[in-house]
Amino acid sequence: MSHRRIAGPLGALAVFSIAGSAKAVTITIINNDGANTGFNDPTPVTPVGDNPGTTKGEQALNVFKKAAEIWGSALSGTVEVKVLASFAPLQCSETYGTLGSAGPMSAYYNPRFPNASAWYPVALANQLANRDMNTNQPDIQAQFNSELGKPGCLSSRGGWYMGFDGNHGKRIDFLTVLLHEFGHGLGFLTFVDGTTGKEMSGRPDIYETFLHDATQDKPWTQLTDNQRKSSALNNGNVRWEGPAVTAAAKEILSSTTPTPLLYTPAKFESGSSVSHWDKSLSPNLLMEPVINGDLTHGLDLTTALMKDIGWTLPATTP
Ligand SMILES: [Zn+2]
Repeated sequence: MSHRRIAGPLGALAVFSIAGSAKAVTITIINNDGANTGFNDPTPVTPVGDNPGTTKGEQALNVFKKAAEIWGSALSGTVEVKVLASFAPLQCSETYGTLGSAGPMSAYYNPRFPNASAWYPVALANQLANRDMNTNQPDIQAQFNSELGKPGCLSSRGGWYMGFDGNHGKRIDFLTVLLHEFGHGLGFLTFVDGTTGKEMSGRPDIYETFLHDATQDKPWTQLTDNQRKSSALNNGNVRWEGPAVTAAAKEILSSTTPTPLLYTPAKFESGSSVSHWDKSLSPNLLMEPVINGDLTHGLDLTTALMKDIGWTLPATTP
């Protein structure tokens, strides 16, 4: 199963600004589901795994709030992050399916940002600007597979698990998928078109500035479009070179190499290639392209990556 970001073009933008000092960032949902579906599904259910919800929709909203709390307390920020979220029938079969997809709805550059020339995803750009760059519009769009567990879509897995306690068994842990998709929306992705190697409007994005091709021994920002296109397929040779990740990798990964690999399989996978950690990393990480059952609702190396791209972490975060 993969859970993927939205690969399409960035849409329109923005949020509400909150004045104040740096503290845990507030992440809220804009429920984009219709009546009686998804986050509004009135089907009665029994509370499960510390989730007290008594309808399917209520339980899903509770898991969203839990994921928002976990991410919100890991990052500092003064501007609320709004996530436009819904369930939808995503690509799926009995053996493989897309669990979710997410991405920023807009991006900005500004000479006053830490990198004066790079695109920043709107949720991060808002924190750097300390104001809402574009009011009344969401920052992140996220979708989750509405068909999971139904005939034809991984039916043997039994659907979503809505508990907080990790006792998902064979089911798919919704909280883990939410944490993963929030990661993409907050900045764990490149805007480079991997099929052409072209940067968005000819400008690097902040994530891209930390990618390094070991074969060509150059950062992605110094590659031509064609070189980036081939680097996106350079399996096992594209690394993250950022100080926070390097420091954290020594603590978290079993590997002795402190510059972790990105997922760059020889055959391009839209929505997965480049914008995930490589599957080979150990222990399994939240931002690998395929969900692993042993994940435990931690943000592992992802928090450090957020620091590298410009997020401020609360002082209490190690
Ligand atoms: Zn993903």
